[in-house]
Amino acid sequence: MTQPSILWFRNDLRLSDNPALTAAVERGAPVLCLYIDDTKHPGDLATGAASRWWLHYSLRHLQEKLKIHKTTLVLRRGDPIKIIRDLVKTHDVSHVFWNRLYEPWTIKRDTDLKSALKDDGVEVETFAGSLLREPWEIETKTGGPYGVFTPFWKTLSAMEPPARPLQAPKSIPTGKSNLETDSLKDWALTPEKPDWAAGFADHWQPGEDGAQARLQSFVENGLDQYRDHRNTPAEEDGTSRLSPHLHFGEITARQVWHAIQHAVDADKVNSGSAWAYLREIGWRDFNHHLLFHNPDIPMENYKENFDAFPWRDDEQAFEAWTIGRTGYPFVDAGMRQLWKSGFMHNRVRMVTASFLVKHLLIDWRRGEAWFRDTLVDADLANNVNGWQWVAGSGADAAPYFRIFNPITQGEKFDPTGAYIRQWVPELADLPDDDLFRPWEASEESLEKAGIELDKTYPKPIIDHSAARQRALAAMQETKSDR
Ligand code: FAD
Repeated sequence: MTQPSILWFRNDLRLSDNPALTAAVERGAPVLCLYIDDTKHPGDLATGAASRWWLHYSLRHLQEKLKIHKTTLVLRRGDPIKIIRDLVKTHDVSHVFWNRLYEPWTIKRDTDLKSALKDDGVEVETFAGSLLREPWEIETKTGGPYGVFTPFWKTLSAMEPPARPLQAPKSIPTGKSNLETDSLKDWALTPEKPDWAAGFADHWQPGEDGAQARLQSFVENGLDQYRDHRNTPAEEDGTSRLSPHLHFGEITARQVWHAIQHAVDADKVNSGSAWAYLREIGWRDFNHHLLFHNPDIPMENYKENFDAFPWRDDEQAFEAWTIGRTGYPFVDAGMRQLWKSGFMHNRVRMVTASFLVKHLLIDWRRGEAWFRDTLVDADLANNVNGWQWVAGSGADAAPYFRIFNPITQGEKFDPTGAYIRQWVPELADLPDDDLFRPWEASEESLEKAGIELDKTYPKPIIDHSAARQRALAAMQETKSDR
């Protein structure tokens, strides 16, 4: 019973509601807490730069929390299978615990590790700790996976409520105190020259405490109005901004579910808003369900007829999109919010993504890769399915002919122009009537606002109506439906 256990932290960087940690602690033997920077990670799906920034601070926070329990977070970089097998040998470990992940490459890695450890005579226990329901727990009436959200959600929401979240352990049994660990600083996860993430800390508090604070603040200030405000990007608490915390597992969907349920039971919020919110948490489960059952969708169209789509190569247009200089203020505001804060509001993600794939006819995979590199909440299941949804190639996707109008979307969802003025400050002095289409503003209006078109702010890189017609024509090339 004294042989130690390894608790392998992955995207579950928390102490509360962590079933693998709880099981390791309950075993009673010393727990070696481990995090591995997996260098065997497939290169084309590597963790993006903004996510590495987040990871640095989340790990630092976890180190501090474990220190209170006199426990070191052992950091290692390399191949997890080799690292864990070596640790098992050198520390005479008998049990290894982790919480399950659902990306195809993690499933393969974990399966290989599990069988290698079993061959070494080590007990492995794995747990569900990320989703409301594991991807295989929800089935259609005929026993298959879902491809449409509404019936998926109907089934999920009719099931027993998710298990009550676990408390953080009161203490963690420790063993040797002089465990060898890499230095987090040496991993160089944060950018230095230039430090493009300098502004991120104004927006985020990575780590479990930050996640709990964000949830509490949203329940108190945003939840009641969620149904009405969730599409207004300028609204401070319009959405919860929990996505990076959920991705890194600093908080669980179960904890969120029960906090929302508690607010409803205590008559603190209207249940319409609460259900609208829980439905979005359901989309997260749905996207993981899709990825689990269709492991090739990070690279392949879900609907095969899209394989014939005539994507264009246009480096100049792609670059204008990435830096927020398309000439469409609502699109540019989104792309600059992304660059400066590592985040973009969901409504604007839909509009900017649609602009790339439909106005510019650039392959959704390029947009997905850009978001993956620049979002602090980059999440394979949500990002890939978000892009395929917008492109029209995904499961339960927006029909291709629904092409977001980048002008009227701004007028509708940013009616005061506050969002555009925040992220595209060179347009701040334009009157509301001109803000969404500066190229139509009078000379006088532009001059008063200090704008010189194509100098201080670009003219549209493509005409909206012409782009719409071109996109519809391109669609003709994708014939049959899956
Ligand atoms: P809230 O509205 O407060 O929602 C609460 C939680 O529900 C979110 O934190 C998230 O976990 C989940 N959620 C909300 N909307 C969705 C959705 N449409 N699909 C799946 N889960 C959802 N989300 C990511 O977490 N990572 C991504 O990499 C990502 N990429 C996207 C790319 C595109 C092109 C699109 C259209 C959407 C993408 N989303 C992604 C989904 C969504 O935009 C974000 O989850 C949401 O904006 C996060 O903000 P929030 O936490 O304030 O959301």
